[in-house]
Amino acid sequence: LKIVIVGASFAGVSAALAVRQKYPQAAVYLLEKQAMLGYLPGGLQLYFKQEIDSVAAARFITEEQLQASGIHLKLGTEVVGLDAQQHLLKVKQSEAEYDQAYDKLILATGSSQWSQNISGSQAEKVLKYKDFPGVLQAIETLENSHKIAVIGGGQIGAEACDLLVKKGKEVHLFERMDYLLFKYFDREMIQPVQEALSQQGAVFHFEESVEAIEEERDGLVIQTQQSAFHCDSAVFALNVRPDLAYLSNQVACHIDGTIKVDAYLETSQKDIFAVGDCIQVPYSLTEEAFYIPLVNNAVRTGMLAAENLIEKVTPFIGSIRTLGTKLGEYYLASTGLTEAEAAFYDQPIAASHVIQSSTSFFKGAEIQGKIIFEKQTQRVLGAQLVSKSNILEKINTLALAVQAKQTLTQLAQKDYLYHANYANIFDITNQLGVAGLRSVADED
Ligand SMILES: Cc1cc2nc3c(=O)[nH]c(=O)nc-3n(C[C@H](O)[C@H](O)[C@H](O)COP(=O)(O)OP(=O)(O)OC[C@H]3O[C@@H](n4cnc5c(N)ncnc54)[C@H](O)[C@@H]3O)c2cc1C
Repeated sequence: LKIVIVGASFAGVSAALAVRQKYPQAAVYLLEKQAMLGYLPGGLQLYFKQEIDSVAAARFITEEQLQASGIHLKLGTEVVGLDAQQHLLKVKQSEAEYDQAYDKLILATGSSQWSQNISGSQAEKVLKYKDFPGVLQAIETLENSHKIAVIGGGQIGAEACDLLVKKGKEVHLFERMDYLLFKYFDREMIQPVQEALSQQGAVFHFEESVEAIEEERDGLVIQTQQSAFHCDSAVFALNVRPDLAYLSNQVACHIDGTIKVDAYLETSQKDIFAVGDCIQVPYSLTEEAFYIPLVNNAVRTGMLAAENLIEKVTPFIGSIRTLGTKLGEYYLASTGLTEAEAAFYDQPIAASHVIQSSTSFFKGAEIQGKIIFEKQTQRVLGAQLVSKSNILEKINTLALAVQAKQTLTQLAQKDYLYHANYANIFDITNQLGVAGLRSVADED
């Protein structure tokens, strides 16, 4: 059995490791066009925060670790064509081209940062640092820039804004919506974070879409409908997209350019699976599928494709878009539906807030929490947390409550640990359940 995986990042590596374990007799090939594997896209943050000495250290796996498990890793090897009938890939290595046969194929070629809508976004000083060559260029350019535009106010843009403000740069963030991280948080939860960033000097240009970028002698001009902004360089922080020209139209795709897969992650072609950032995933809270490019989806789909490769045994349960980050002094985390998304949900929803202060000897800071639930059944649909204490892990408990379709009552009564040094007497996750129940009772 010859299993070939294309793309050696989160999805491809997790697929390769899972395939290796499940089919010890199979020959497993992992093809990657770049010269290294396992680079972490958050490497820029780690480097500028001096958590690593060299950005090359921002990796989740090395060649040696992978090869030790008996996987044939081929770096500098780009797949440029596919013949699904013959079960052949056309592969380019240096200047040579050859055919690579497969019995089972997993496409894990992910995404990159590009936009057809913003002319000039390919300019050299428009920085994209998802991959290693990109981050090297970004570090050098950002070090030599003072006035920097950040295009997009999602996770990548908000984190870049925070980082660059801390480095003393003049940062202007452009976002077409009217607040940061709108996909994950409701406005009132983000407000204190945004105010803190503004106080540190970040300038927000909300409701201002970037339409074009022009290069000038020493920098860039960012064109929006409202203004022409001159800067030294820009961080391109819009959504990532797959680039699948190599499939030669032999695998069915959605109009957004992602690969169509069934519940078991098989594509329209038999024996070809697709995972990670090149597919849409079912959104577990509605009947729809969306493009949710996150590492956890890449890892989970990678492992699942391995599971379903020979026999379709386990469908993918989907994503509820769980995210955590730190901006300024604030840790922020979100899972599931926001209140602003109520219009897209077919049942009436309600929301409650909790502000939890520290109790007894536990030194944690105040936590602001929000719970979103179905009005009638009280099923938990989403949650958001903001605090100066590191509450990020708490969101995983809330994500499980959403995935497991728990109700407010179950959440309010869930078990938790208490210890005088390390925990509050009341756990914020239980408190969110209690707050939801109280608001239902008040309304009744
Ligand atoms: C700056 C930044 C920060 C991010 N931070 C986070 C975060 O904190 N948390 C989070 O959940 N997500 C984060 N993301 C999103 C995350 O990076 C992606 O969801 C994740 O990388 C997807 O993994 P993947 O394996 O599907 O694809 P990718 O990571 O895109 O990897 C695809 C691989 O395939 C290779 N490849 C592509 N085409 C070919 C070809 N034709 N032949 C051979 N090889 C090919 C590529 O070189 C690449 O190595 C961030 C993204 C960016 C841009």
